[in-house]
Amino acid sequence: MRELVIASTNRGKLRDFAAAASVDGVVVRPLPGMDAIIAPEETAPAFEGNARDKAVYYSAFAPGALVIADDSGLEVDALEGAPGVRSARYAADAGATPATAGAALSPAQIDAANNRLLLLNLDEVPQQRRSARYRCVLALARDGEVLLTAEGTVEGRILLAPQGSGGFGYDPLFHLPELDRSMAEVGLEAKHEFSHRGRAFRALLQKLILIGT
Ligand code: IMP
Repeated sequence: MRELVIASTNRGKLRDFAAAASVDGVVVRPLPGMDAIIAPEETAPAFEGNARDKAVYYSAFAPGALVIADDSGLEVDALEGAPGVRSARYAADAGATPATAGAALSPAQIDAANNRLLLLNLDEVPQQRRSARYRCVLALARDGEVLLTAEGTVEGRILLAPQGSGGFGYDPLFHLPELDRSMAEVGLEAKHEFSHRGRAFRALLQKLILIGT
């Protein structure tokens, strides 16, 4: 069975990829020692550039393996596409994270700060103008060379308040019209079926078959 190495420390993304593997019949495993590898700066203006840069960089740590990097985020129309590529650092960029006396924020604290800022910035925006989408670009590299990229999106709407406790990131605020639930209220298999990441992953597998790798 085809084995893919996922270069991410984001537990939410890793759970999504594990669900993808169980549905799509591939083996995915995290890059060994990932937590100890210094993350590269993400400086590209768009998801694809960052995904490519990360895939090239991390593939050097797993010689011969097919290494996938994911760059993804939320685009809100009323905010002209923000937070976009800055989704992970939305509150930090705005200086809107809680004071911690020098200690690093946990992923849950970062997500909560990002979600608070998103709601604040959409305070005056009525329901019908809260359209948004998640976008995910995956890049697959082997030994420093990008073999292919694939993209997936999912359209939705930003809720007035968080709903649900599953998922990660902006999921409690992202309403998925197909299931009339927030992304934090659907299970991993449903998230895989409808999400930007699931769509990008399936597109990537199709392309892999086409290039015969
Ligand atoms: P990256 O690690 O630079 O690609 O940043 C991804 C960020 O986008 C995450 O930290 C989340 O804030 C957001 N994001 C991407 N995908 C998802 C998702 O599936 N659910 C919720 N938030 C997501």
